[in-house]
Amino acid sequence: MQMNLYQLLESGFPKDKPSCAIETHDGLFYSWDDLEKATSKMANLLASLRLPQGSRVAVQVEKSPEALFLYLATLKAGLVYLPLNTAYQAAEIEYFIGNAEPAVMVCSPKNFSWVSKVAFKAGTKHVFTLGEDRTGTLLDRAATQSDKFKTVKRDDDDLAAILYTSGTTGRSKGAMLTHGNLGSNAEVLKKFWAWKKGDVLLHALPIFHVHGLFVASHGALLNGSKMIWLPRLDTKELIKHMPRSTVMMGVPTFYVRLLLDKEFSKQTVKNMRLFVSGSAPLLTETFNLFKERTGHTILERYGMSETVMLVSNPYEGARVGGSVGVPLPKTQVRITTDDGKLCGVNQIGSVEVKGPNVFKGYWRMPEKTKEEFTKDGWFKTGDVGRWGGETSAGKVPDNYLCIVGRSKDLIISGGYNVYPKEIESFIDDMNGVDESAVIGVPHPDFGEAVVAVVVAKPGAKLNSDAMIADLKGKIANFKVPKKVIIVSELPRNAMGKVQKNVLRQTYA
Ligand code: ATP
Ligand code: MG
Repeated sequence: MQMNLYQLLESGFPKDKPSCAIETHDGLFYSWDDLEKATSKMANLLASLRLPQGSRVAVQVEKSPEALFLYLATLKAGLVYLPLNTAYQAAEIEYFIGNAEPAVMVCSPKNFSWVSKVAFKAGTKHVFTLGEDRTGTLLDRAATQSDKFKTVKRDDDDLAAILYTSGTTGRSKGAMLTHGNLGSNAEVLKKFWAWKKGDVLLHALPIFHVHGLFVASHGALLNGSKMIWLPRLDTKELIKHMPRSTVMMGVPTFYVRLLLDKEFSKQTVKNMRLFVSGSAPLLTETFNLFKERTGHTILERYGMSETVMLVSNPYEGARVGGSVGVPLPKTQVRITTDDGKLCGVNQIGSVEVKGPNVFKGYWRMPEKTKEEFTKDGWFKTGDVGRWGGETSAGKVPDNYLCIVGRSKDLIISGGYNVYPKEIESFIDDMNGVDESAVIGVPHPDFGEAVVAVVVAKPGAKLNSDAMIADLKGKIANFKVPKKVIIVSELPRNAMGKVQKNVLRQTYA
């Protein structure tokens, strides 16, 4: 390809510039012409700062169309975009800014006083503000710039973004993604998910993460599709705008919440073509209930900050509950044993990947980068999986991948490997159980002991002893939790991922 990612995305913009590119929840319409002009103005502002190639533009702002334009402007100006989770507070921002040393920081107007202090301390020279309501110094300064900008030349190998991982298993790492990584994945997904003329994307994901920023936005931009832009997950808003949409991407929580709403019906989805789920495992129960209620089969896919998308259920062909599907074109996936042999069907091992979408390495962590690649150049995802086998939804084809968990969550009890997901699926199938998380906690005798943390369905009463007794009849004794703890909810981060590290600390 050898081009700036912006040029690739732009190649998909429609010829009809006055047509709508983004419609917001509060009734604003941005045409493709508006998008291009606003992006060029911001790119001119960034270019006027005369920053060297590779300079980082760090951004912690609420979601708005202008925040998306800022991302596009950073690409266009050939700089490196670095989005930050809006939930991060002072100590976290200090770590990220200190680590990334951005040349530019853009923050919410309400956070300016503390963010600017942290940024100036880290050597950042330019701090702008951008509010969710079109306020702030970034737009003030961009307003007087020209609305034409010639996209800066960049090659496949040049950095486009640094994306900090979600920090589910430890401290977040900055994944360095190139124009080539992002561009090749966007092109693959456009075809694989059969983006069509007339598609409208319902966009309610945050845009500081791979799912909302890259997978969802790139898809719509490259297809020249309108986005209905919602600031956050709000079930009523989803239901209101869905009848005019054709594609939605969400984390599993989206689907769980929609199903809890009585207004969500076949009528709501009458215009929809595709529901995509990812970022965390989708329960087969949700997959099944969604099909019953709407007639739609959710398409689950698997990816990560370091690689963008890797594996997906097919658009045409069987979408299998509990499986993330087949490797995407151009991506190679293998599963290996601890001593580096390839696993056979239904054998659990480490998931390793290769392809044009795999990142360059972790920002300023050469040692960590080296550790996470095998000698023959495969990236170790840190996830544990198997080909084929069975889920509670039935048999899985041999070429389909099932994610069993993360290697860091693997429990070794009395010398035996225990895969939390296996036990979780047994518990989740019990009457009155909403969801569960199985963890290992230090144990003087076994090394680690299996503990289950369980959430009951509304109104249901669970009995820990009875649950343990029930499991004893189903699975080997070393896998049976020594303790079942009933809680009202599981700790989750912004992407809906269960934070097992938090649970391990709490119940240590
Ligand atoms: P960190 O690397 O900092 O611990 P993280 O891995 O959660 O955080 P992300 O890059 O946002 O950060 O998430 C990628 C991970 O999300 C994958 O490695 C995988 O564990 C999980 N994941 C993504 N999609 C799915 C899916 N469909 N099913 C199960 N797990 C998924
Ligand atoms: Mg990770």
